[in-house]
Amino acid sequence: MSDFTELVLASHNAGKLKELQAMLGDRVRVRSVGEFSQVEPEETGLSFVENAILKARNAARLSGLPALADDSGLAVDALGGAPGIYSARYADGQGDAANNAKLLDTLRDVPDAERTAQFVCVLALVRHADDPLPILCEGLWPGRILHAAQGEHGFGYDPLFQPDGEAVSAAELAPAEKNQRSHRARAMAQLKQRLQL
Ligand code: IMP
Repeated sequence: MSDFTELVLASHNAGKLKELQAMLGDRVRVRSVGEFSQVEPEETGLSFVENAILKARNAARLSGLPALADDSGLAVDALGGAPGIYSARYADGQGDAANNAKLLDTLRDVPDAERTAQFVCVLALVRHADDPLPILCEGLWPGRILHAAQGEHGFGYDPLFQPDGEAVSAAELAPAEKNQRSHRARAMAQLKQRLQL
C-alpha cells in the first residue's frame, strides 16, 4: 500500500487539514477535496467509523484518487459520550465559539472529578470509491474539560481540553507538540505503519 504517491484529504475543516498535512509529511502529495467540490456529504452514520468511510468514499468518487478521511470529535463522560459524532454541529452549526460556550454551560455544575473526556479520531483510507476493505485506524486522547477557554492554538474544543499529563490546554500546546500527542497523531501513527510511510 505504500505504492501510491498522491491522495485526497476528505475534509473542508482548515484545522484538521493543516494537522493531517503536517503529519503525513512530504512522501505523499496531499490534495484537498475542496479542489474537486465545495459540497460536503451529509454525515448520516451513527459512528465515527461509518462517517469516516462515507466521507472517504465521497472524496474518492469526486477526485478519482485514493482518499483519506478523518472523523473526529469530543466524547465527554458526564454527557454519556456527547457531543461525540455531533461535535462539529453541537450548537446547531453556529461554529466553534458557540460549541465551546454550549459545552461550558452544560457542564457548569459538574465538579472537576467528573469532567473527564476524550478526543476520538478515526481515519479511513479507501484506494477507490468502492473499496471493499477500507483501512481503519483509531486514536484516543484522554483528558478533562476546563472551566474556561485557555490558549490560542489549534481549533474546535482545544481551548477547553486539558490532556492527561499536561498542565495546559490543547490550545496552549505548540502545534508541533499537539501533532505528536493528539488523537489524530495516534491514529496517523498507526496509518503510517500500515502504509509503511
Ligand atoms: P467532523 O468534521 O465531523 O469530524 O467533526 C470534527 C469536530 O470535532 C470538529 O469540528 C471539532 O469540533 C471537534 N474536533 C475534532 N478534532 C479536534 C481537535 O483536534 N481539537 C478540537 N476539536 C476537535
